[in-house]
Amino acid sequence: MTFPQEKVDKIEKVLKEQGALQTCEVCHNHSFRIFEKYTYIILQDEQGVEEGQREFPAITTMCENCGHFNFHNVNAIFHPDEE
Ligand SMILES: [Zn+2]
Repeated sequence: MTFPQEKVDKIEKVLKEQGALQTCEVCHNHSFRIFEKYTYIILQDEQGVEEGQREFPAITTMCENCGHFNFHNVNAIFHPDEE
């Protein structure tokens, strides 16, 4: 299930306020797609993923010209009681 439009609007608003949707660092394009699902970034050691691993839900944006991805920690966008 994708995010409701209200949540997408909030994400876009916060990312714009933070300056995260201005210029692609690779190609300098100014247009980004915001994906409507979380990406999980998982930390692991040399043996792989362990129980109790640390994982971070992230909002993913992609440059609409070159496809460069950016990941933004959800906690930097929403307060814990806000989701
Ligand atoms: Zn780009």
